[in-house]
Amino acid sequence: MWYAVMVGFGYDVHRLVEGERLVIGGVMLPSLKGAVAYSDGDVLLHALCDALLGAACLGDIGEHFPDSDPTYRGISSRVLVERVVALLQQHGYRIVNVDATVVLQQPRIAPYREAMRQTIATLCQIPVERVSVKATTPEHLGFVGREEGVAAFCVCEIQPAS
Ligand code: MG
Repeated sequence: MWYAVMVGFGYDVHRLVEGERLVIGGVMLPSLKGAVAYSDGDVLLHALCDALLGAACLGDIGEHFPDSDPTYRGISSRVLVERVVALLQQHGYRIVNVDATVVLQQPRIAPYREAMRQTIATLCQIPVERVSVKATTPEHLGFVGREEGVAAFCVCEIQPAS
């Protein structure tokens, strides 16, 4: 093949309300507010799924896991990533690296960052040294700053396995 790597990008947003769980990067965070979603609302793993699918030009998360399908109600987003990784493997790709940024006003992500990195590394079957999770607060600006939502961006590289 003529290319060495293919780059993918993913972005996701979830609304936050009181009384829901806040799961980010496969890790449950202590928070009064959590994500409103059909699945567990893991904004980071959803952005990761879209980055991986985008790199392989295999559509997007909504196409593969439609919220009209009751199978995906309350499903752990870890399962969604596992299925996306398996799909990429079927198409002959392996993952090179992942770099993600979570945008959240509170709580702070830092104490949970290593657990998120390890979860993503395990799911993507790559060393943790090739997984980056960063976080930023929006300084109380916009919907994330008002704690109405959480957002995540993710880029990844994949390459042909052979
Ligand atoms: Mg989502």
